Amino acid sequence: MYRVAIIGGGISGLAVAAAIERRGAADGIDLRTLVIEKDQRLGGKLRSITEDGYLCEWGPNGFLDSKPGTLDLCRQVGVADRLLRSNDHARRRFIYAAGELHQLPEGALSFFASPLISWPGKLRLAVELLIPARCDGADETLADFARRRLGAEALEKLIGPMVSGVFAGDPETMSLQSAFPRIHQLEQEHGGLIRALFLLHKKRRAERQAGRAVSGPSGPGGKLTSFAHGVEEMIPAVASCLQGEIRCGAGAIAVKKQGEGFSVELEDGAVIETEAVVSACPAYAAGALTAALDKEMSLLLGGISYSPLWVVCFGYQRGKVPHDLNGFGFLAAKGARLSLLGTLWDSSIFPHRAPEGHILLRSMVGGATWPEVTSLAAEEVEQKVKMDLKAVMGISEEPDFVRSYPHPRAIPQYLTGHARRLAALAERAALHPGFFFTGNAFSGVGINDCVGAANATAARVVDFLSRREASQPA
Ligand SMILES: Cc1cc2nc3c(=O)[nH]c(=O)nc-3n(C[C@H](O)[C@H](O)[C@H](O)COP(=O)(O)OP(=O)(O)OC[C@H]3O[C@@H](n4cnc5c(N)ncnc54)[C@H](O)[C@@H]3O)c2cc1C
Repeated sequence: MYRVAIIGGGISGLAVAAAIERRGAADGIDLRTLVIEKDQRLGGKLRSITEDGYLCEWGPNGFLDSKPGTLDLCRQVGVADRLLRSNDHARRRFIYAAGELHQLPEGALSFFASPLISWPGKLRLAVELLIPARCDGADETLADFARRRLGAEALEKLIGPMVSGVFAGDPETMSLQSAFPRIHQLEQEHGGLIRALFLLHKKRRAERQAGRAVSGPSGPGGKLTSFAHGVEEMIPAVASCLQGEIRCGAGAIAVKKQGEGFSVELEDGAVIETEAVVSACPAYAAGALTAALDKEMSLLLGGISYSPLWVVCFGYQRGKVPHDLNGFGFLAAKGARLSLLGTLWDSSIFPHRAPEGHILLRSMVGGATWPEVTSLAAEEVEQKVKMDLKAVMGISEEPDFVRSYPHPRAIPQYLTGHARRLAALAERAALHPGFFFTGNAFSGVGINDCVGAANATAARVVDFLSRREASQPA
């Protein structure tokens, strides 16, 4: 009988395993974990592919150093000295709107000088100061929130691209309080966003003047952080620190109640008996494997939708690209008439990702507003990216290197009603003591969110097992 079986060997599953073992060791309990991964490899969405001298990220580009979770994990598994921060190019971010690239303003002055938002749009934004906070507890969409507080132009050119950049999502259906809880909180606490930003700026300045550490290591957003061999480098490091067992190549197909614990059936016919189970796989997979345990829980999990994406990497000889590439990349405003959601100038952010004299661009195509993108062939998607890069960056030459990666279910969408779904899920899970879930489908999709959620889940798992141990007769 295992003590804890963790289903899913992505960053969430590995981080929860590491945190359970660490906490168990601190409490003097041997809590070796079993990680069950469907694929032959660990890492889930974290996959860094090096070919022809280009380093292509299949999924995430890295994580921000503004939250402690992932940095702490890297320290614990001994890879903190290999971390690589993005260079200063990453500060300059662009929005493609009205046929042009506009640098995203970094401060109030540059905002007023920027042509990104028209003067009527800027005036409408300023009116935000006069709009009272909405306090009726409504689960508002991001689009409704943006139109109410900031105006239609800000929705099109600021909020829409932000939602594409994080969730590849649709602001018309996503929940503000679930997808961007910090923005919701700022409105609730300070009455409005401009007021909140002003107060936070004042607080930071005071902290700086008093010589205290400014909240967040490098500004509010933090620096994009990865490794020389890509973000996947942390995966074998975490895996090799685990004391327990890792089984790859056969996914879990069913979790059932078995005596005081659970049985987990695997695709290869094996049946695992365990005291506790942590589901750390995507919500649709968790939904399928809990069907026999709890029909209602299974439906709630299976009802979380995912946006589809293609990640398209183009490598070029530097001379073929008539753009200075001084920046992080661009996101497309709504109505920009592009197929792509945005393009990251990967070799500007991390110069070693392309061979000497070459550059690497990584574009995202599809998202929640274009679900049919998954039915396109790679060549069709690549053709669309070429046309878009010509329109946006003037690139008319053929790329020297092309790789495209489909993600039919890339990123979970926190639609309105998500908070209610989570509350209902917590109620169902409480009926099955010893069954837990974690991962990116619940309260944050960034790597930092996944590691943070994994740590919180691990604390609950260890608490459950310790209480059970204490209640057993000596
Ligand atoms: C294109 C893209 C770009 C992104 N960019 C960023 C970024 O720059 N920064 C950032 O912070 N985040 C980014 N994200 C989000 C982030 O990568 C993910 O939210 C995070 O990696 C999810 O980790 P996870 O372990 O929860 O899920 P996953 O990585 O999906 O891992 C789940 C694991 O469960 C396994 N599994 C599935 N079914 C079963 C089963 N039945 N039994 C056993 N195992 C199973 C899967 O094979 C997989 O290995 C990006 C995501 C995508 C798709």
